[in-house]
Amino acid sequence: MAQEPRRDDGGGPQDDCLFCKIVAGHIPATLVRESDTTVAFRDINPQAPTHILLIPRVHYPDAATLAAAEPAVAADLLRAAGEIAGEEKLESYRIVFNTGSGAGQTVFHAHAHLLGGRGMQWPPG
Ligand code: 5GP
Ligand code: ZN
Repeated sequence: MAQEPRRDDGGGPQDDCLFCKIVAGHIPATLVRESDTTVAFRDINPQAPTHILLIPRVHYPDAATLAAAEPAVAADLLRAAGEIAGEEKLESYRIVFNTGSGAGQTVFHAHAHLLGGRGMQWPPG
């Protein structure tokens, strides 16, 4: 069977990316839902009773870069976050996109944290 054409215009899988490996199924994760464009799974080190990561199947280093390159996928991600919040019965929740190591980003494949199930402080730390 012919291979998918390699995407050189950004968005293609990166060999050294943890979340690309989860998208490919090479690293296991507790999946919450999948679509053609996004994958949602439980964070391995939860910071709240509900802590779900939502990632695009395509690889971009952060959320704003994803939104600039593939806005429909960024919208899919946000819509999925809201739908999962409903399924998880979260009345209040926080969607976080850490961007840059100074803000706590450790995996440089765009991802949303969906956090809920406890009270939260503002401003965040
Ligand atoms: P960041 O710090 O980049 O905003 O978020 C990365 C998140 O990925 C962290 O909350 C971390 O706990 C989570 N994480 C790191 N490695 C794994 C893994 O192998 N599986 C899962 N499910 N989550 C992971
Ligand atoms: Zn990636």
